[in-house]
Amino acid sequence: MITLFPCLNDNYGFLLVEPESGLCATIDTPDGEHIAKELERRGLTLTHILNTHHHYDHVGGNLFLKEKYGATIVGPKADAKRIPGIDITLADGEVFKFGAYDIHLIHTPGHTLGHCAYYVPDEHSVFVGDTVFTMGCGRLFEGTPAQMFGSMAKLASLPGDTKVYCAHEYTLSNAAFAVTEEPDNLDLRAAVEAAKALRAKGLPTVPTTIAQELLTNPFMRAKTAKKLGEIRTAKDNF
Ligand code: ZN
Ligand code: FE
Repeated sequence: MITLFPCLNDNYGFLLVEPESGLCATIDTPDGEHIAKELERRGLTLTHILNTHHHYDHVGGNLFLKEKYGATIVGPKADAKRIPGIDITLADGEVFKFGAYDIHLIHTPGHTLGHCAYYVPDEHSVFVGDTVFTMGCGRLFEGTPAQMFGSMAKLASLPGDTKVYCAHEYTLSNAAFAVTEEPDNLDLRAAVEAAKALRAKGLPTVPTTIAQELLTNPFMRAKTAKKLGEIRTAKDNF
């Protein structure tokens, strides 16, 4: 079971529960106290923290929640030194046993060098942090276009119906840019209208799916790393 709630200005908080064991993970910790309230509201006890990358809006609540619940912190090996309180490190492709669920770490460098995604086949879901956003992608703070291109390709190879849990609600801004890249893409036009309708009602545009992003996301649709880099630069200046 996965639940999502808005956190900080434009982040999402995510709770993942494996029902057989009752294990409960938060994916990243944008706001420790807010996450603790959501856990309480749902009668859940946090057992794990899964971090996607070291940015403050993703690890800021790590130590607070670890202290409060004794939660085990899991993160990418590549970023072990930058994730507060980390207990278990996983390399690309390694699997973490979460009760009856297998959680696969996928190294997705680009936004940062250590960035990873967590693929949970039992939930047909992937938590992508700041790698992919609905109709967008994360800024290249540390990585190269080639690295982000490789990361996108890894995610694109997941089953099309995989739900993609992006860490921010950036969709309308991404949509406004995406239509300038692909003005003739009718799937994109439809997605933009659907996103506007959701946001008008205050509803999230997350999760999206891999199949949907392959139809509408200019960064996932870029055929080469060079093209992805050009689109990223254009978005940075949009
Ligand atoms: Zn970030
Ligand atoms: Fe972020």
